[in-house]
Amino acid sequence: MSRTVYVNGDYLPEGEAKISIFDRGFLMADGVYEVTTVIEGKLIDFDGHFVRLQRSLDELGIDNPMDRDTWLEVHRQLVTQNAVDQGMIYLQVTRGAPGDRDFVFPDPETTKPTVVLFTQSNPALVDSPKARKGIKVVTIDDLRWGRRDIKTVQLLYPSMGKMIAIKQGADDAWMVQDGEVTEGTSNNAYIIKDGRIITRALSNDILHGITRAAVLRFAQEAQMPVEERSFTVEEAMQADEAFVTSASTFVMPVVEIDGAALGAGVPGPLALRLREIYIDESRKAAI
Ligand code: PMP
Repeated sequence: MSRTVYVNGDYLPEGEAKISIFDRGFLMADGVYEVTTVIEGKLIDFDGHFVRLQRSLDELGIDNPMDRDTWLEVHRQLVTQNAVDQGMIYLQVTRGAPGDRDFVFPDPETTKPTVVLFTQSNPALVDSPKARKGIKVVTIDDLRWGRRDIKTVQLLYPSMGKMIAIKQGADDAWMVQDGEVTEGTSNNAYIIKDGRIITRALSNDILHGITRAAVLRFAQEAQMPVEERSFTVEEAMQADEAFVTSASTFVMPVVEIDGAALGAGVPGPLALRLREIYIDESRKAAI
């Protein structure tokens, strides 16, 4: 069935949506994105994603083409028109399409940002077979640029990382800089040792995950101690549990790192408890 998508003010069948070949998102990855999860037709942490979108745009000097309420209205329209129960809404804003290819940014008065949104349904988000089994990760060098806190559409290296993992029979890659884990290809990374949840502190080295913020808040409310600090691959391999978080996977247990099983090689109790709390609380707060 054809989806209805949103392009620059219009709701269109996906086959009719068009973007210029001069769009800087296409030519230069000059754009940012967000992914907001939908559960039971409602948006999880919409405001967190809106605030991060604004920050990414500000960092790149791209005007935000819509205010919060208009963004919300477009999200809700797409959920309704595509009858999304569980899934996600992808949004992308690029610096737009000037007439020529040029490294110099175009004048924002004459070149307006391009806005695209579309939905993807995924009925297995909450009751995820992967979460019951846990995922396997391999470690790779983090070869991305130095502003990973900006959610740009430059996803080639993370995509290559995922393929390296799949080739090795794993599910995802954890990226490593100076011996320490930065994050997963599309998620934040955590280990648990003696009941303490350890995850890298926020900086330009990682994306400031919206799910990360929520999970750390819920962990503290549940009296689980949190340490925001870097950890090495060796420390991760000695951990009791590990997990990753992202908008579309919530809390996903990690059961193997570079071929070595963690603990009993099954999802750990604290990771599973955090997943349950995150899903319950997010459902309650969804709009
Ligand atoms: N790190 C990276 C590199 C990501 O791509 C993502 C998801 N886009 C995350 C972390 C998790 O962020 P969020 O919880 O906001 O989905």
